[in-house]
Amino acid sequence: MAYAAATQDTIHDDIDIDALRQKYMEERAKRLNPKGNSQYIEVKGDFSRYIDDPYADAPLVRDAVDETVEALVIGGGFGGLLAAAELHKIGVTDIRIVEKAGDFGGTWYWNRYPGAQCDIESYIYMPLLEETGYIPTEKYAYAAELFAHARRIGEHYDLYPRALFQTQIVEIRWDDAAARWVATTDRGDTIRARWVLSASGPLNRPKLPGIPGIEDFKGHTFHTSRWDYAYTGGNSLGGMTGLADKRVAIIGTGATAIQCVPPTARDAAHLYVVQRTPSTVDVRGNRPTDPEWVKGLKPGWQRERMDNFNVLVSGMRAPVDLVRDGWTALHHDLLTSWMPEDPTSVSPLELMRRAELADFRKGHKVRSRIDEIVTNKDAAEGLKPWYGMLCKRPTFHDTYLQTFNQPNVTLIDTQGGGLDRITENGIVFDGVEYPVDCIIFATGFETGTDYSRRAAMAIHGRDGKLMSDHFADGMRTFHGFFTDGFPNLFLLGSAQNGFKPNVTDMLAEQAEHLAGLIAAARAEGKTRIEATSEAVDDWMKTIREKSQRARMFLAACTPGYFGGHGDIEQGLLINTYGDGSIAFTALLQAWRAAGDYAGLKIY
Ligand code: NDP
Repeated sequence: MAYAAATQDTIHDDIDIDALRQKYMEERAKRLNPKGNSQYIEVKGDFSRYIDDPYADAPLVRDAVDETVEALVIGGGFGGLLAAAELHKIGVTDIRIVEKAGDFGGTWYWNRYPGAQCDIESYIYMPLLEETGYIPTEKYAYAAELFAHARRIGEHYDLYPRALFQTQIVEIRWDDAAARWVATTDRGDTIRARWVLSASGPLNRPKLPGIPGIEDFKGHTFHTSRWDYAYTGGNSLGGMTGLADKRVAIIGTGATAIQCVPPTARDAAHLYVVQRTPSTVDVRGNRPTDPEWVKGLKPGWQRERMDNFNVLVSGMRAPVDLVRDGWTALHHDLLTSWMPEDPTSVSPLELMRRAELADFRKGHKVRSRIDEIVTNKDAAEGLKPWYGMLCKRPTFHDTYLQTFNQPNVTLIDTQGGGLDRITENGIVFDGVEYPVDCIIFATGFETGTDYSRRAAMAIHGRDGKLMSDHFADGMRTFHGFFTDGFPNLFLLGSAQNGFKPNVTDMLAEQAEHLAGLIAAARAEGKTRIEATSEAVDDWMKTIREKSQRARMFLAACTPGYFGGHGDIEQGLLINTYGDGSIAFTALLQAWRAAGDYAGLKIY
């Protein structure tokens, strides 16, 4: 084919474009599961023990609270902390934060698995660094430092006295006469609040694989987001002496497994890594923070760095790459390097051709790196990803691949199909049973699954309408934040919003925007902010229209949570603003500048 002939020599002599296309589609087909998201087991009923809190010091004993506050923040992770900080900045300090964990931290309260680390550079991932006067110790900080920073923010804004930990909201109900939400909790609290900001996060609910026999296993099991150090010994920094005589299976090879496999392999007698789809694993290059660099930082540096990163990973050009890491290099190679200054100077078909070529080229580099590092040829072949580089969250690690050179580590490459089953004693693949003492599920979270699977509380809006009914056919919002019939309730997160890979940057922008709205309403003595049904309908039309590109992209992708595990319409990417975060930010700026709050009733 002329196309292949034209491209072959420009990529690499031994890369055949047609063969690669076919290989990618074959690998995708192996992984398509008609069950989509419903292949996963929810952590409820017999499985609810998987979400017990192994970290809380002691069961909470306290008197129930009955109070009226200005604002209720749901969730004490970085999203909730940013919301509270922004409220603080506009003078709203009469707030209550409700968090089911035993402390602030969210993801970093729960995810203390060994090797846990932010996968976005700390200097831009850890929010409010300038405000709190903290500089991370490393380019990619480990979990304990991230958790400590969440607590630091809590201290800095005096949020501890305002937090109810180990507490879950059971219901929030809109009281129209009082223009307030009334929240009740599992500790018997009643909290009345004018404004509710919900930041319960996309990664707050683990999910389990629907492997036959999962309930039969008689050994020890847990999910990575509840790492059981009482069983393994040690802590997130190492020393898991309890595993010295244990055969362990880690199921899953996503961003979490990439980080926890090396320390587990170091400490366990034997480790089986059960892989359905390999991650793309490129160079991490972590290093200690350079004090000289710190000395040169000028006020405003963190926002500048965050924005610069976001521009580059959005495929746009910037005069300088401040972060200079695997993320920016990847996006440069995939999105920018081949793009002419004037994209209209070449045909759309030519742009697509160049994009595909760049992706194949990068994939080839990632696969070649595996051959350079992994000495066992079978394992090396198994670890090679055969899909577009952005189909799953890309990963970066400097010791993951090397782990497969250890004699006590076995890759069980299920080639997309997963295990046959789990038995009382172990795991079975291809008819062979592998006895194990412990199974660790690194199988991710309820991200992009049905709202009903994730909703931990009942939300009753105007006239008692349940949000789960309101969202029965899918989420429907205006700008991702507001929905009609649910006044003064603001949702933070990526859904129907401008998604950024640096999630804390996205949350910071959202918190600032929402606090600005609340400040504007308060300044005019208004007590209600509510989206009109027309604005919600229009926004849903926009989301649908702009998701066409994501739909085309995902149709060629290996399944994952970006694409609803094959059920694309349920995918995370379909449900974001398709023009991307830079366009979304511009849209919000223009919307604010217009000054009429079009789409909202503020009264
Ligand atoms: P993911 O959803 O990314 O990965 C789940 C893994 O479980 C996949 O490898 C999946 O395979 C595998 N799996 C699912 N079902 C089965 C099965 N039946 N048999 C075998 N394997 C199975 O979850 P993670 O926890 O790894 O990561 C979730 C997200 O958390 C990341 O994408 C990232 O956004 C975030 N994260 C962030 C970090 C940070 O530092 N900021 C660090 C770690 C995670 P398959 O691919 O075939 O579906």
